[in-house]
Amino acid sequence: MYLFQTAKELQNHIQNLHQQGISIGFVPTMGALHAGHLSLIEEAKKIADCSVCSIFVNPTQFNDPKDLEKYPRTPDKDAQLLESVGNDILFMPTPEEVYPQGLNTHLELDFGTLAGVMEGAFRPGHFQGMAEVVKRLLDLVTPEILLMGQKDFQQFTIVKHMIKQLAMPTQLVMGATVRETDGVAMSSRNVRLSPENRSKAPVIFETLQWAKKMLRTLPLKTIQEMALQKLQSVGFEPEYFEIVNTDTLMSINDPLDATAIVACTALWAGGVRLIDNVILTD
Ligand code: AMP
Repeated sequence: MYLFQTAKELQNHIQNLHQQGISIGFVPTMGALHAGHLSLIEEAKKIADCSVCSIFVNPTQFNDPKDLEKYPRTPDKDAQLLESVGNDILFMPTPEEVYPQGLNTHLELDFGTLAGVMEGAFRPGHFQGMAEVVKRLLDLVTPEILLMGQKDFQQFTIVKHMIKQLAMPTQLVMGATVRETDGVAMSSRNVRLSPENRSKAPVIFETLQWAKKMLRTLPLKTIQEMALQKLQSVGFEPEYFEIVNTDTLMSINDPLDATAIVACTALWAGGVRLIDNVILTD
C-alpha cells in the first residue's frame, strides 16, 4: 500500500494511474476504521481498478470542539486494517495540505432543505464543512467512483446533490450499513460508549426495524412518537426520529406520499452521539 501525506505526492501518483487507464474508487474517512469502512474499500476494489482511502479528521465539520478533540485517532491500526483488505493507496494529509494558505476552498452551494433538517438542524455548519472537504478531496483524488455509506444517509444525499450541481465526473455508490451481531451500526464513536450504554444500544436498530414493520399499520406520527418513547425508555436522549422521503429528506405524513421512505434517528447515549437509519420501503 502506498502512503501519501502531501497533495503533491498523491496527485503525481494518481496522474500516472490515469495515464495508464487505471480507474479509481475513493473512500473518504475520518479514521478509527472498522468493518463498515473496510466493506467500502472492498467494494471499491471490486468496481474500480485501484482503491484510495483518505483519513482526515476534518475540523470544519465539527460544530462541537469537544467532539473534535475526543474523536478517536488510531492511525497505525488503521494502516494495518487497510493493508489486510488490500487497499492500494492511503492518503493521510495534514490540515495544511487540505486547506493550504491562499487557496479558497470555500464552497457556495445551496443544498436547500436537504441540509436544514435532521443532522443539519442539530449540527449547524456540519454539512457545509463536510461538503467542502469532500469537494477538496475529490479534486485531489479525481476518482471515477466515490463510495459512501448508507449509515450517513443525509450526508450521502447531500454529496449526491453536490456532484450533480457541480456536474462532477464522479459516480457515487452507496455501501450498506455494516452492523455488529446485535444490530448496532458500526461507528468510530462506539468505543466511547460506557458498557451499560453499549449493552442498550441494540434498541436503536430494533426501533428502526419496528418502524419498518409498522409502516402500513400505524399513522406515521404515532410511529414517530412511539419510537422516541422506546429510545427514551432505556435512558437515551433522542434528538430526532424522522420518517422522510429518501430524495427530498422531507417528512411525510402518509406512506403513499413517497416511493421510497427512510427512518433516520440521532440520539445521545451518555456523552456519545449516535445516528442510524433504515429504509422502510422495499
Ligand atoms: P466516517 O469515518 O465516519 O466519516 O465514515 C467514512 C465513511 O464510512 C462514510 O461514507 C460513512 O457513511 C461510512 N461508514 C461509517 N460507518 C459505516 C458502517 N457501519 N457501515 C458502512 N459504512 C459506514
